[in-house]
Amino acid sequence: MPQIAPLATTLPAFIDAQAPSALAVLVDNHTARHCYPLVKSLLPKHTLIKIPAGETNKNLGTCETIWGALTNANFDRHALVLNLGGGVIGDMGGFCAATYKRGIAFAQLPTTLLSQVDASVGGKLGIDFQGFKNHIGVFTQPNDVLIDTAFLGTLPPRELRSGFAEVIKHCLIADAAEWERLRRYDLEDLDWNTAVAHSVAIKQRVVEQDPTEKGLRKILNFGHTLGHAVETHFLERPKGRLLHGEAIAAGMIMEAFIAHQKGMIDAALLAEIEEYLFAVYGNVPLTEADLEPVLAHTLQDKKNRAGQVRMALIDGPGQCAYDVPVTKSEMRQALDYYRG
Ligand code: NAD
Ligand code: MG
Repeated sequence: MPQIAPLATTLPAFIDAQAPSALAVLVDNHTARHCYPLVKSLLPKHTLIKIPAGETNKNLGTCETIWGALTNANFDRHALVLNLGGGVIGDMGGFCAATYKRGIAFAQLPTTLLSQVDASVGGKLGIDFQGFKNHIGVFTQPNDVLIDTAFLGTLPPRELRSGFAEVIKHCLIADAAEWERLRRYDLEDLDWNTAVAHSVAIKQRVVEQDPTEKGLRKILNFGHTLGHAVETHFLERPKGRLLHGEAIAAGMIMEAFIAHQKGMIDAALLAEIEEYLFAVYGNVPLTEADLEPVLAHTLQDKKNRAGQVRMALIDGPGQCAYDVPVTKSEMRQALDYYRG
């Protein structure tokens, strides 16, 4: 289970218990500045590996840099890698550790909200390849996940808000009481230790029951079929930057509408979700011309089967079904509903 506490209390004890033969810390240029000074002060001698920030660097070339640094420092199979950063650092650093000499120990020290509540938990590791996201990777559990919410203090507000979409998602699919609590707060007034702890516990509970996404784990994709399609469309035709959580917030409204149309949730829950998400995230501008390309992207979704789109759809407050077949016309109606 991930530990949520100041690193000063968790990190030294973890290193002592692990007793690695050598230690590396992987950072990007932002976490080098904002997060590494604290970590450095808590660690014995180690190798710092610094890479440029951003999703565009989550690739094989950067892996070569990381594997090269471990090789040059003569790391053996008892070495330990600490991934200090957001999901890019965690996914790629974990992948490099899980494959270096067939696998050495690593821990996730997530520093974005998205990575604290989502990417660092569950053992999915990997990199992008030839334009496809997370195309090459493995499932390997980290030796530990050490979450210090103090790092959220330097995160750009828009990144914080984007990560918050996964917090909302976790409540909607698995914790009705937490949804009731959360939706009464403004982002600025949230106690992050409590919110992150709830969110991590939900993800952890789901992935423990289905580590390799054969069934139940698919519920974590609520909002992500149409959300991801919108995100991809914006990447291909830059209409202004859209962060992952902003696209997922739109996707959750659309998919909640589909759930309502199918009789899975009542109008009151749809209204609650819609009202809250529009208030926090505003409206993603989608024109008539965007709709067909967005719908086309849903056909590429990893959860589809035999060409048919299958969604994770909430079927009550804090409940979610998966593998629900959805037609193109249902998705089209949801896009129209979202556009108002
Ligand atoms: P990111 O790692 O790119 O971090 C976002 C930005 O914030 C970066 O510029 C980073 O340098 C900066 N940053 C990080 N911590 C900071 C801090 N404390 N203060 C100031 N700046 C900071 O992106 P992300 O949103 O954390 O994660 C997205 C990645 O996670 C994607 O590659 C996605 O595929 C992956 N992901 C993986 C899983 C999984 O299960 N493995 C789940 C969800 C997402
Ligand atoms: Mg997501």
